[in-house]
Amino acid sequence: MIVIKWLLFVLLVVSCFWLLYAVLPTYLYRWFHPRVCTHLKQTQSFALTFDDGPHREYTAQILNLLKEHEMKATFFVVGTIANERPDLLKRMVAEGHEVGIHHHKHVSAWFLTPGQLKKEIQMCKNAIIEATGVEPIFYRPPWGHLNLFSVWCAKPYHTIIWSDIFGDWSLKKTKKALEAEMKSKLKRGAIYVLHDNGETKGADERAPEQTIGALREFIPYAKQRQMNSKTLSELKKEGTSTWN
Ligand SMILES: [Zn+2]
Repeated sequence: MIVIKWLLFVLLVVSCFWLLYAVLPTYLYRWFHPRVCTHLKQTQSFALTFDDGPHREYTAQILNLLKEHEMKATFFVVGTIANERPDLLKRMVAEGHEVGIHHHKHVSAWFLTPGQLKKEIQMCKNAIIEATGVEPIFYRPPWGHLNLFSVWCAKPYHTIIWSDIFGDWSLKKTKKALEAEMKSKLKRGAIYVLHDNGETKGADERAPEQTIGALREFIPYAKQRQMNSKTLSELKKEGTSTWN
């Protein structure tokens, strides 16, 4: 009986710690912290953002598509992959896109100490600077997970979450469904998160093919409605309000 009581006590302590360190900060910071942004105000445009790359084939296809339609995007890259494919980061910058931090390895902040989190951000930043010579301004944590210290560890970067997420990392999401959802959610100030690499944990390797297929239809649709995708820096300058 005493053993069961002790086990329940330990479980309670661990659950409380988890709630305070990981779950509550993830939601409370998103809703209330001025340095954590989920959408933009007072702008005529929206933001396409891509996580988890760069991927040799898919990222290049997305860059071709963006170039064809003169749209700009922000790529939140993984540091270890950026080190392997610096040419793609160089191309992003040369073509007017922005590169942001997504951790050095694709790990959740929920399982990192403040020191480990800071290192993930720093090492990814170094990879971006080494490839492009440009200091990043924005940070997006993998899976949007924040911990109690994330906002301090991520300083001086702005933490960007998203206004719309589509589940495009899974092949269960068909191209048609993705396209329809992207069109229906299009609004000024929106931040779309998509994925240009399916090699991360929990994703389907070929899922970006659906994303690219949907973008081929979605981008001309947005353009017809005078809705241009811009980089987060461009949108930050365009909007006059503080980040939300
Ligand atoms: Zn990610």
